[in-house]
Amino acid sequence: MKNEALERWTNAVSAEFYGIHNWGAGYFDISEKGHVVIYPNGGNAGNPISIMEVISGMKERGFEMPVLLRVGNILDSQIKLLHESFGHAMERFNYKGGYKAVYPIKVNQQQQVVEEVCKFGAAYHHGLEAGSKAELIAALSMLKDTEACLICNGYKDEEFVDLALYATKIGIKCFIVIEMPSEIPLVLERAKKMNIKPNLGLRIKLSSRAGGHWSESGGDRSVFGLTVSQIVDAVDVLKNNNALDCLKLLHYHLGSQIPNIRDIRGAASEACRIYCGLCAEGAEMRYLDIGGGLAVDYDGSHTNFSSSRNYSLDEYCADVIEVIMSILDEKEVPHPIIITESGRAIVAYYSVLLFNVLDMSTFEPQVIPDRKEVKKVHAMIQNLLDVHKSLTVKNMQESFHDAIFYRDEIRQLFKSGHISLRERGMAENIFWKVVTSISKDIQKLKYIPDEFEKIEDILADIYYCNFSVFQSLPDVWAIDHLFPIMPIHRLDEEPKRRAILADITCDCDGKIDKFIDLHDVKHSILLHDLKPDEEYYLGVFLVGAYQETLGDLHNLLGDTNVVTIRAKEDNGGGYEIVRELEGDSVADVLSYVEYDPKSLILQFRDKAEQAVQNGLISAIERKEIMDAYEAGLRGYTYFEK
Ligand SMILES: *Cc1c(COP(=O)(O)O)cnc(C)c1O
Repeated sequence: MKNEALERWTNAVSAEFYGIHNWGAGYFDISEKGHVVIYPNGGNAGNPISIMEVISGMKERGFEMPVLLRVGNILDSQIKLLHESFGHAMERFNYKGGYKAVYPIKVNQQQQVVEEVCKFGAAYHHGLEAGSKAELIAALSMLKDTEACLICNGYKDEEFVDLALYATKIGIKCFIVIEMPSEIPLVLERAKKMNIKPNLGLRIKLSSRAGGHWSESGGDRSVFGLTVSQIVDAVDVLKNNNALDCLKLLHYHLGSQIPNIRDIRGAASEACRIYCGLCAEGAEMRYLDIGGGLAVDYDGSHTNFSSSRNYSLDEYCADVIEVIMSILDEKEVPHPIIITESGRAIVAYYSVLLFNVLDMSTFEPQVIPDRKEVKKVHAMIQNLLDVHKSLTVKNMQESFHDAIFYRDEIRQLFKSGHISLRERGMAENIFWKVVTSISKDIQKLKYIPDEFEKIEDILADIYYCNFSVFQSLPDVWAIDHLFPIMPIHRLDEEPKRRAILADITCDCDGKIDKFIDLHDVKHSILLHDLKPDEEYYLGVFLVGAYQETLGDLHNLLGDTNVVTIRAKEDNGGGYEIVRELEGDSVADVLSYVEYDPKSLILQFRDKAEQAVQNGLISAIERKEIMDAYEAGLRGYTYFEK
């Protein structure tokens, strides 16, 4: 007997299905209306903000899709969580050192991000990490808190070193981290000239390696940092220059998104041995900078899969502190101030990419013709029709092979001119009808034959979406990174269409066909049918880290609109728009690749004038055409309705 209540699709089923409670970290949920909502302060608590309301507010203000939505409070909440977690762990283990965090600018360099980290982070003396001159120059202006650290990583020329030394001179807690042996004489020489005592750190290349996408940045093969023998040499150079007292910090960075806590423990313990060794050499060590790597659970599986992590933030803090204490206490070395350079974990949650679906294409075949109607068609097509007619659950595999055989024969006949365009179209249709029928029938089987396992993915619809993978989700394209994706509304309705997403770059790589799953990677996602007069909105979540500036201008699709919101102070459930950044116009992206929009207009106007002279158009039509051209230049690079 059918149980109606059990079979009804609900918001709760959607939540489970898209995993929003697994990856949402308490920031995202589904409302009674079936819309995705944001809890700006986390913990699935407080007054939620409906993304659909934000979208309609943006539309009223003339902001077109795609939009990158940032929620300021989420950034604040993540900063707070990090400091509180370390605070609790230090208290619990009676850790005698301290904790300082620095935000690595490269993870999201946008001015408003760095500004917010400095502003909200001031309560915790949250500092900055710069890996290049440009980042250092930005950091020097943004960082106001003199208790906060400024860590200078990256290869350094004289200009970089000078800036870092001046920073020290004006009272900024600036550390110059040595990445290459040749930097030491340079720093010492410049410091002597300026009469400054620099704060030095050494970056070590650990032999510990970590799993995950970015594992190459740690371990023996890492291009960054000093080997143990170079560290020993560095100590000697410092001693010979009477500058060992400048060395205060030890740094390593295992790589980003380290999914396995064992790798984090392993690296920390190796680094602690080196730290103790440096203390034994007579260095006045005070800081242990363990870099970034704190991962984000993008798929919500809580495993050591590359898009996940098998630890919580609390476990990360507790493990780091426990490992450090166990080794340092054994050697009776005072507990250092721990520095972390977490970037991804701080900013990932706070941006959501929103876009509308423009259209879809489906393999769902049209009604196929009756045998009697098609007496005159080629015998091969008759055969294919027979396969369709005689298809049952019992002969599925045989029918599948036959259908492929006849389809391929028909393609050959088409190439040799024995089959017409219409017949070929009819044959493809019948073939897909056979495949669709099989995919419906296999649901009835207990055991699904191997060759049919992927059949649903083969039949997936293509949803054409108004965004560019290359511009907005470069890691999806470059390293098969997985982000959680789901519809923003209609979550009280059952999604019945299996789909992959295509962007509007018309590049065959401009697609998303890998999706999060608790146990595996899915190759299609279930979405709702498109309705004729209603927009359908999708969101890609947790995109705040690394995506914005890695993106490129493929097909000249530019930066998207960016809207930053904040929950209203009184927390009455409302939000306010605190920042709007208009995306690139067509003229903007053309000028990035060296076109001059003004001269484009002049050149096109000459062409239009020629057409007037040749009697092809009237002068009034010339005006219309020029207006359209100029409006096009001013317009958004994405699909506008
Ligand atoms: C990229 C980078 C980080 C940031 O790593 P996350 O995994 O994003 O926290 C920290 N430190 C250094 C040296 C880096 O290169």
